[in-house]
Amino acid sequence: MPDDDIPFNRPSVVGDEYANIADAVRGGILSAGGPFSRRCERRLEEMTGSVRAILTHTCTDALEMAVLLAGIGPGDEVIMPSFTFVSAATAVALRGGVPVFVDIDPVSLNLDPEAVEAAITPATRAVLAVHYASVGTGIDRLAEICERRGLTLIEDAAHAVGATYLGRPLGSFGWLATLSFHETKNLTSGEGGALLINDPALVARAEVIADKGTDRARFERGETQKYVWHDIGSSFRASELTAAFLSAQLDKQGDILARRRELWARYHAGLEGLERGGRLARPRIPPACGTNGHIYYILLPDEDRRRTLIDGLLSYGIHTVFHYVPLHDSPGGRRYGRASGSLPHTNSIASRILRLPMHLALSEGDVDRVVATMRKNLETAEWG
Ligand SMILES: *Cc1c(COP(=O)(O)O)cnc(C)c1O
Repeated sequence: MPDDDIPFNRPSVVGDEYANIADAVRGGILSAGGPFSRRCERRLEEMTGSVRAILTHTCTDALEMAVLLAGIGPGDEVIMPSFTFVSAATAVALRGGVPVFVDIDPVSLNLDPEAVEAAITPATRAVLAVHYASVGTGIDRLAEICERRGLTLIEDAAHAVGATYLGRPLGSFGWLATLSFHETKNLTSGEGGALLINDPALVARAEVIADKGTDRARFERGETQKYVWHDIGSSFRASELTAAFLSAQLDKQGDILARRRELWARYHAGLEGLERGGRLARPRIPPACGTNGHIYYILLPDEDRRRTLIDGLLSYGIHTVFHYVPLHDSPGGRRYGRASGSLPHTNSIASRILRLPMHLALSEGDVDRVVATMRKNLETAEWG
């Protein structure tokens, strides 16, 4: 990639990452559960009000833990969006459960609560909600539906670290929630994730599942003489090196969030004219949402115009990407899951959405260059 290209994403070091890693090495604990791991977990608990946070290798791991903890087994149905990352569906399919894909709301891009209610069957056990672009719209209604129908609510808050809805942290509405620290996310440790446990009754089993099905966590606290095998589980806990890196990012989380919101607002203001001219639609964020600037997306009128814009921007060195390919009609989705209804909004949004560069290495000038290049491309386009 040429030097003056604007990449879609570039991970940044924001503070004490290298010093923390050196500290961890000097401290002599590099596996899971060292001082940086504990520090990150306590910090995530403070941020979300969760009773227990467990650092994992990835959000995918945290989703697999969540589905295990929700007791999903063969034939159990878990309602989720089709417009989401594949890990939600594989976590369910791994347990023999059935992902049931429902449509999204075309404004929030989150699960449509009415479509969720319509998809509930006697086999439904859980709802797995995503906060697309850190927008929490609908999570209160999903929590109410799950409460009334006796279902477990799991929040995939991979986009939503530090974001709020109705003044409440995202990740605090479900029994369980997951976070991602993949290099494309707001806070990163390369790969990384966390499971947030909001139901105290699930904490003990979560500790066992996270540590190969053993009671090693109790042993480490001196609550038992030796640790032994109790349950199924896996090796889900992140290494201390990962936690050392993440800890520095968590220390700067307020600055990171503020900077991403500034960049977001600059795109939003810059693209207003193109929206008024009917060339694209900008995100609509209700006042109840305290978003974190994770994604700036636009919606084009159709897939062809999106293709033309992606290619046009790329010819000026600007890298943009679309997002989820709907799960319900992917080969895996057809094999392991099923769609509830016809999902018109999912199909439409997936073919028209485009994400613009968003990361900490972006300058105001970069944002202005993206906006100006979009204007040149979209205003001169001949649209019949
Ligand atoms: C990134 C992402 C994941 C997966 O995160 P990993 O940490 O890469 O496993 C899951 N769900 C959503 C909504 C994501 O955006």
